[in-house]
Amino acid sequence: MALEGVTKDYPVGKGRTLRAVDRVSLSVGRGETLGIVGESGCGKSTLGRLIVNLEPPSAGHIAIDGSTLSGLRGRKLTAMRKRVQMIFQDPVASLNPRMLISDSIAEPLRNDGTLGRAAIAKEVTRIAGICGLSDHHLQRYPHELSGGQCQRVGIARAIALRPDVIVADEPVSALDVSIQAQILNLIVRLQREFGLTLIFISHDMAVVRHVADRVAVMYLGRVVELSDAAEIFARPSHPYAAALFSSVPRPRPDRRRHRANVEGELPSPIDPPSGCHFRPRCRFATDICAAEKPQLRAVATGRTVACHHADAVRTATEL
Ligand code: ADP
Ligand code: MG
Repeated sequence: MALEGVTKDYPVGKGRTLRAVDRVSLSVGRGETLGIVGESGCGKSTLGRLIVNLEPPSAGHIAIDGSTLSGLRGRKLTAMRKRVQMIFQDPVASLNPRMLISDSIAEPLRNDGTLGRAAIAKEVTRIAGICGLSDHHLQRYPHELSGGQCQRVGIARAIALRPDVIVADEPVSALDVSIQAQILNLIVRLQREFGLTLIFISHDMAVVRHVADRVAVMYLGRVVELSDAAEIFARPSHPYAAALFSSVPRPRPDRRRHRANVEGELPSPIDPPSGCHFRPRCRFATDICAAEKPQLRAVATGRTVACHHADAVRTATEL
């Protein structure tokens, strides 16, 4: 799956626009898990919705195996859409309250129209079982299940059409801490079993650390760092990433890292600062940061960073 210059603008009145996603280019390999992290409002969910084609990008392209979604129409578009599915943040709200759980899971299969009634009923039971739901859950309504069970239903719906790519948008943040691990483990198990490409969106660094192979850090609609997970957790190179990751509990709290917490307010995405969006909050910022938008560039193996001062940041944030 590859994104090239993907952008989303929303009109916000008086002729102004809000750029929720700003020229994001990245690729995710088959079976890989890409974590997408960043503060609330940085564009993670919008990017997720663009990837699953719930809305079209304002500019740029999204391709699976070389085929661009935006170029497709009719049956080809439907076939391509099936390959990318989403797990939503609020499991209860994402289900139809008046539909039996069995019907919720059957819905994508019915819409697809490939299987007959009997085959769908069998498939629903099979998928539910894979997701840890029993027949007794299938004959209930969403309000009769717990949040965790509803998320199992959401996951069952997402895998029903055997997609290649799953976008999970904060799939456990609405759940009790005590059941988050079960749901995470289910997602990871399904990913391994079916070789799924997983795009895992979260503001919780500890969760991302648990699942991701690579991590993209977003700030105000842009990807500011895209690095291997082990690398970025050990030594983030973008000053914003360094600030985010410094709040993750350390395995060895006695080895205190240099703290680079973010000060100041998140700027408005309607009127973002020139050059580097992070500049007003960055203690490394110089004139070039206001004048030129930093592009993502490789600074070491498995690390790309959009920062004019990446080397200085890495030296300063070293353990
Ligand atoms: P995140 O998921 O990282 O919290 P979102 O993608 O939800 O961020 O939002 C990114 C920005 O886009 C926010 O400023 C949000 O207010 C704005 N936004 C999202 N959806 C819309 C929309 N449909 N219309 C206008 N603005 C939107
Ligand atoms: Mg969101």
